[in-house]
Amino acid sequence: MRTPGVLARAVLLCHDCGVPALITSQFPKSPVAALASGERSRVALRAALLARGSEQEELFSLARRARDATWPVREVETRSVIELSNVCQQSCNYCSMAKESKLKRYVIKQGQLMERVEFLHALGRRVLVLQSGENDSDNFVGHVAKCVAEIKRRFPDLELILSLGNLSHRQYVRLREAGAERYNLKFETSSPSLYSMWKPGDSLDQRLACLRDLIAIGFKTGTGNITGMPGQSLDDVIDDLLLLGKLDLTMMSCTVFIPGEMCGYRDEPMGDVDIALNQMALMRILYLTRLMPTTSCLERGKKGGQLAGLMAGANTVTIHDGTPEEFKKLFPIYSTDRCSPDQARCAAIVHDAGLSFGKAPLI
Ligand code: SF4
Repeated sequence: MRTPGVLARAVLLCHDCGVPALITSQFPKSPVAALASGERSRVALRAALLARGSEQEELFSLARRARDATWPVREVETRSVIELSNVCQQSCNYCSMAKESKLKRYVIKQGQLMERVEFLHALGRRVLVLQSGENDSDNFVGHVAKCVAEIKRRFPDLELILSLGNLSHRQYVRLREAGAERYNLKFETSSPSLYSMWKPGDSLDQRLACLRDLIAIGFKTGTGNITGMPGQSLDDVIDDLLLLGKLDLTMMSCTVFIPGEMCGYRDEPMGDVDIALNQMALMRILYLTRLMPTTSCLERGKKGGQLAGLMAGANTVTIHDGTPEEFKKLFPIYSTDRCSPDQARCAAIVHDAGLSFGKAPLI
């Protein structure tokens, strides 16, 4: 039996003094009951982020009920990802593909890309993610625009989600005009100082300006954060949750920090998967109509983590069957040994969550 006011604890940094500390939270009643009755205070959000055991199960159950009331068909959007290029101009401390890494670089040519798209379309996939490191050269963006136009010409029923990082307004317009419908650009953190620490040479202001551009241009836009990062407090995570509510989004995401072998933060501890899962449940409860993926990094962080993401209200899975085999190891966005779920693996967790493959319609 759950004890009201249970003391929950997480190892994070204290928001006020910035010193590593055990943060504790004491909430006078069940945070789930408070959320269910419409409470959205920081105290309730904090308590929910720290929920464990039966309290966490209740939180997930509330999130699932919210999802299933919004999408009664109980289908998840099933996407495939093609990792177009690992060339990157950024120096993110949490990523093994930063420009300083000695990785062999590649860009997939149009012919090889179209072979993969044809294969995925024949499998029945109707949503594709085209992802790459950040490369704002007109040469590369022009290449992507040509690929997008060719995909839309040959497969007009395929919906394309781009994830290419910060580009100029003009470049985003070019990609939208080529036919791409959606764009994913995570803000990573709502804290300007953490953002600059994690991504030296870039700024949160710049990131948010790009997000506003994407939305204004007409992309159905997604964004999100990373939890468990060095220097991040629980209050920062709450700020991330609230920032998601200030943007006109179609998609949202939360990932957990995995220290990749080649990244600047390789010696830092892995993020707490339970906090990431609790945040996902809160995102579903707060922002009913947005698509939300359950990501492979949850599985890397904890066995069963990706299924738990669906149990916490996610309604999207990404199948890693688009990138040609020869390039897969060259895209270690969080780890050279990352979990890349194939169709069978995704089908199993979707089935176990009582859902089915399909396309949760955009709302
Ligand atoms: S997270 Fe993206 S932008 Fe940052 S280094 Fe990795 S690939 Fe580049």
